[in-house]
Amino acid sequence: MLQKEKEIGLQAVGMAMAMAGTIQKELTSGDTLTKTDRSPVTIADFAVQALICKILSSHFPGMPIVGEEDSLALRRSENWGLFAKIIHYLKKSDAPLREKEICDCIDLGGAEPNATFWTLDPIDGTKGFLRGEQFAIALALVQGGLVRLGILGCPNLPPASGGTLFWAIQGQGSWRISAMTGSAEPIRASVKTDPRLMKFVESYESSHSDKDTQLEISRRLLISSPPEQMDSQVKYGIVASGQADIYLRIPNPATPDYREKIWDHAAGSLIVEEAGGWVSDIDGKKLDFSAGKTLSHNRGILASNGRVHSRVLEIISEITAEK
Ligand code: AMP
Ligand code: MG
Repeated sequence: MLQKEKEIGLQAVGMAMAMAGTIQKELTSGDTLTKTDRSPVTIADFAVQALICKILSSHFPGMPIVGEEDSLALRRSENWGLFAKIIHYLKKSDAPLREKEICDCIDLGGAEPNATFWTLDPIDGTKGFLRGEQFAIALALVQGGLVRLGILGCPNLPPASGGTLFWAIQGQGSWRISAMTGSAEPIRASVKTDPRLMKFVESYESSHSDKDTQLEISRRLLISSPPEQMDSQVKYGIVASGQADIYLRIPNPATPDYREKIWDHAAGSLIVEEAGGWVSDIDGKKLDFSAGKTLSHNRGILASNGRVHSRVLEIISEITAEK
């Protein structure tokens, strides 16, 4: 089941990883725009969405794609310079796009969630991408509100140069592929039970979660080193492969109305679960991908190796009760 979706998805994300890695190395200050929500978007976000939507739509015509970006800003004449760069990178990609089809391919990602759909974050962690650090290309297939296939390309995640590609199909485990050698191996979340020995990861960006409360939780767990900051869904990849044990995302009190976007969690959450870890919101509820483009029925995120999950939830309720 889902073998063709997996094969084509891996090909598309693999090609996009190579292109995004090159763009990141060559990026200049003029290659970025600011969106209406004040978040940055770069030529890589647009180019990756165009490339992946083109490939998916040619193999799975009619299947909705719910992507993060649209081409509106690129169609404005003042952004011609940016568009020219996108053309340049897409022409030399492994699935070259013609100039005329680029904006339409980006907008193939403009579908609404349906019974079955792809969801795509072309560059998750754009701020990390701009700092030259971690970012991810995240693609997932959602069916009936459940994530069935998750693919996560992490171009800057060792061990291999070229990065690491994770994938999982519901019921078939999680896998890691070295982008350099192409060799695949199954991965498992850690089996640690003593929280003191665990590694705790959180967002690099302070505005994306409540770091003070997260630090307090790591203290109450008696974890010796403070949480490690890292951008993007790479955090799910490292929990799934046992390199970290807890990823916590408590909503930032400064943005109480923010709701997590489905494309920021679909791929990563399945990869952790299929590796034997657990993923829930901070109330212990399963993530609900049936509520549109956001996880509007959930609050925050907790991903863990499973063994420490209920203890972290307990501490979260203790802290909430104390407030
Ligand atoms: P991370 O690097 O794990 O923080 O993930 C990056 C993602 O955080 C981006 O793709 C945004 O969609 C998301 N984001 C932006 N603002 C917020 C916010 N206030 N709270 C939580 N996540 C956010
Ligand atoms: Mg994102």
